[in-house]
Amino acid sequence: MFVLPKWIDVLRLRGSRGLARVSLLAGLLCGVMLAGCSRSAGEEDARAASTASDDTGYDPDGPRPKNFILISLDTVRADHVGAYGYERDTTPRLDAFADRGALFLNCTSPSAWTVPAHMSIFTGVEPPAHGCTYYQDVGRVNPRFETLQKIFNRHGFHTGAFTGGGFMSQRYGMFDEFDTFSSKGTHFADNLPDVWDWIDAVGDEPMFLFLHGFDAHKAYLPPPPYNTRFSGDYRGHYPVARFCKPGVGRPDPVDVAYVMSQYDGEIAAVDDVIADFLDELERRGILQESLVVILTDHGDEFYEHGRCDHIHSLYDELIRAAWIMLGPSIPAVKVRDHVGTIDILPTVLDVFGFDSPAQFQGVSRLAALDGHREARDDYIYSFTGRGSPPYHLSSVRTNRWKLITDLPAGHPNKNCPLCAEGSHSGVDMWLFDLQKDPGEEHNLAGQYQEFALELLSRIQNRIAASLKLGLDTVEPSAESPEDTERLRALGYIE
Ligand SMILES: [Zn+2]
Ligand SMILES: [Zn+2]
Repeated sequence: MFVLPKWIDVLRLRGSRGLARVSLLAGLLCGVMLAGCSRSAGEEDARAASTASDDTGYDPDGPRPKNFILISLDTVRADHVGAYGYERDTTPRLDAFADRGALFLNCTSPSAWTVPAHMSIFTGVEPPAHGCTYYQDVGRVNPRFETLQKIFNRHGFHTGAFTGGGFMSQRYGMFDEFDTFSSKGTHFADNLPDVWDWIDAVGDEPMFLFLHGFDAHKAYLPPPPYNTRFSGDYRGHYPVARFCKPGVGRPDPVDVAYVMSQYDGEIAAVDDVIADFLDELERRGILQESLVVILTDHGDEFYEHGRCDHIHSLYDELIRAAWIMLGPSIPAVKVRDHVGTIDILPTVLDVFGFDSPAQFQGVSRLAALDGHREARDDYIYSFTGRGSPPYHLSSVRTNRWKLITDLPAGHPNKNCPLCAEGSHSGVDMWLFDLQKDPGEEHNLAGQYQEFALELLSRIQNRIAASLKLGLDTVEPSAESPEDTERLRALGYIE
């Protein structure tokens, strides 16, 4: 049984060739949606679960961490991390750190590319709430948002952000209010000397350190010995630097496999860089008194669904994320509950005992650390879009099901002609049973129309609740020559 919001007029629904389409009242898809929708049932379940207690798990009376260290591994697919079950030994050292803390095995990113995914991590709200969703159509985060760094500043922490620049530059306002921001290059190693200087300068005072690197982002050119670690007996000469460039066709499967071996080599390289950093923190006694969160923002595609790179879809290759958390009072536990990286901010504040602002749409997941066997499910949402079709995609995922639609994320895409005319007449839907069809190949939306519509109404409710927060982004400042250079290095511009 499901109830569609009154403002949806379902005129027509058909399933054909794996495509299901529902027509909606024109004009309601782009622009303002009805406000006042209640919180989703899944969210209520999660809030209820978070009040449950257990004998084991996180100890709220245990020692609190002194520092917070947040490390974002850009473009690292969760399913290419050893701890997440990858058959290649890409991340033996991070896996060992994950064994010491909480590993969230079923974690979904709010988007399929860098800016919206990180902005949701820093603000605790969905892309339709912060308004940065569509590639080349994103603004600065609204200064009215409570951000991670503002909250830690207020509690007397030194705050420093060291990023790979480009989409992680200061252009989008994500790093406003950090005491220190620096970006000396795209890779972690480019910034680490400055990071150590900053840590030394902070001394014994509490710190919030944000570290980010595009190490695993294409072009996939790992240094030796990582470039041969997974390449087997490949004897070809595929030019990896040209993979997925505009106008370059799809390589042969054997060459795609080789490209993936280079991507995995990049992940193995970042495993050593980050593990060396964590080992040194431990040697200095800093790790032991820090909460460390290691996450990935989104993945990359290697033609699993006909395309490469990211941004353009919401398949699991792109939206499954890693979330590893260790620190004092964090038990060693594998969490099977379905969570999102949007939950990281409320969870971290919970660990430090800081109040969470009411605006947050994620929830604290500390209650998930009790080692319960039965996975708790929840509805986790994702949004993306780009300057060419698909202009906008929205999805809801549970541990078993995912509905992907081409519904706009609550605001029009400036590049979409139909958004501009206000003439979207319907929504396409793709429903997948992830348990039986983890490769997301068989669209069941036509077969389970009622269920697909129920999930669609959940996405619409989530968008409506996000818009109710009323905190749109503001226009970004002009790109600096340095930003442009980084974006070129990452293959975003020619
Ligand atoms: Zn990214
Ligand atoms: Zn549109």
